[in-house]
Amino acid sequence: MTDTTLVWFRQDLRLDDNPALYHACQQGSIIPVYILDDTTTFPAQGSAAAWWLQQSLLALSASLDDKLIVLNGNPATLLPELLAALQCQHITWNRCYEGWRIERDSRLKSALKDEGYSVESYNGSLLWEPWQTKKQDGDYYRVFTPFYRHVRSQLAVSQPLPRPASLDIAALVNATVNLGGSPTRLTQCQGKKAIQALPLGSAIGWEAKLHGLWDISERDAGKLLETFLEKTLDAYENGRDVPADNATSLLSPYLQAGLISPRRIWQTTQAHALSAGKENAAEAFLRELIWREFAFCQLYRLPELATEPVNEKFRYFPWQSNATQQKQWQRGETGIPLVDAGMRELWETGYMHNRVRMVAASFLIKNLLQPWQDGRAWFDDCLIDACPANNSMNWQWVAGCGIDAAPYFRIFNPVRQSQRFDPSGDYIRRWVPELSNLPGKYIHEPWLLPDRIAKETGFTPGKDYPSPMVNLKASREQALEAFRLLPNV
Ligand SMILES: Cc1cc2nc3c(=O)[nH]c(=O)nc-3n(C[C@H](O)[C@H](O)[C@H](O)COP(=O)(O)OP(=O)(O)OC[C@H]3O[C@@H](n4cnc5c(N)ncnc54)[C@H](O)[C@@H]3O)c2cc1C
Repeated sequence: MTDTTLVWFRQDLRLDDNPALYHACQQGSIIPVYILDDTTTFPAQGSAAAWWLQQSLLALSASLDDKLIVLNGNPATLLPELLAALQCQHITWNRCYEGWRIERDSRLKSALKDEGYSVESYNGSLLWEPWQTKKQDGDYYRVFTPFYRHVRSQLAVSQPLPRPASLDIAALVNATVNLGGSPTRLTQCQGKKAIQALPLGSAIGWEAKLHGLWDISERDAGKLLETFLEKTLDAYENGRDVPADNATSLLSPYLQAGLISPRRIWQTTQAHALSAGKENAAEAFLRELIWREFAFCQLYRLPELATEPVNEKFRYFPWQSNATQQKQWQRGETGIPLVDAGMRELWETGYMHNRVRMVAASFLIKNLLQPWQDGRAWFDDCLIDACPANNSMNWQWVAGCGIDAAPYFRIFNPVRQSQRFDPSGDYIRRWVPELSNLPGKYIHEPWLLPDRIAKETGFTPGKDYPSPMVNLKASREQALEAFRLLPNV
């Protein structure tokens, strides 16, 4: 198989703008492989994202004529064995940016090169490699706005690659190879079965909840982008903070699994904006894509981003870890309507609106004094877009423990946020139906409902919906006091 290249799919489950696939196809035939790494993944694969991954793999396999080889194990041992068994001399992949993956991939790359294989890796997931976005003094940006200004003024985004003109997938019918010491039949042509057999199921039963809510394939990602640009982009800048408005792209889970590339989103948006004269509206959207780049940069420079606070002094923060309180938050039973609406949206759909993510995270960290890492882990488990860079950076951002300039003492008031961003209460009504009959004035603070209206609406605060689990003002003061007492390290 001298002209055949093994293409290792990872977070790039698509044919369009996939540099590893594109360059391999230019050399000759390919062997497409996906390996579910159940040995080293960190943070652990979340259960909702696992469901999304499985659906994405099924779609990828279909676009590869069901010839995707699917394995389960440690790629660092399986890939060398596979290359040797198939007598394949070339391998390509697109880079990942988690510290543990970088370490593993670098070791694998040099070991394979030492064995005489040709190994090429590419950027398939980011607009720019993290090391391309450094400051002039060679250091990484730690604050978003200067990062944004820098990349916007200094760096261009390259054009996405087209999907390969033709796919020549090497036939391995009935190939049996020795993997991990035991003979393994390569399940090419049985992609669907192999994918369904992967240990990706969850006790939570996301399949039952999410089936039918999302269309999951590369094609669907492209359609979603087109529809967003045609119908929603105009409303994005003002509407993106209003959870009831559905004014965002919903592209995050597609980006996370690699069903669409950020370059494709960027260039399609730019072209649309230019032809429709919508440069300002487009810039607000592109800026969010740059937040994603910023998050990956932080993960690249700080591999422990998911667990260690960037600002060291937060290691000494007196968190009051409390499993009962965390359960109430997870179930959307805090008694704070906007927080509960968000947590229930997450549980029912695997997604939560960005503004509400900020408010729900802030409530857990600052009003309940729960460790941000616990909230991050719950989001990782429940989000279909769970992303080690975006999730970890945003939790640290809300916690105020080092990422960007948001200081700890800036504490979201969930009631004010609710009045401002869900003024009609439509989002709350959607996810907290017990409150749906309350007049708009009280939907943000049902505990203030006068007896007369309670009688008229048949709603009893504290019985039909929980009373707030903490006093917002007192818990805010407690958080500020804990912060003031932190040692200066
Ligand atoms: C506590 C918290 C946890 C989060 N966890 C995740 C996560 O695990 N995965 C994830 O993809 N996003 C996460 N985000 C960021 C953001 O909430 C989502 O990216 C966004 O809600 C996805 O919806 P959308 O695709 O419609 O976004 P749009 O508004 O349409 O934005 C387009 C794209 O820009 C990127 N983006 C938007 N906002 C952010 C942001 N604040 N940080 C980084 N990238 C951003 C996303 O890739 C998004 O798909 C988190 C935010 C918070 C506050």
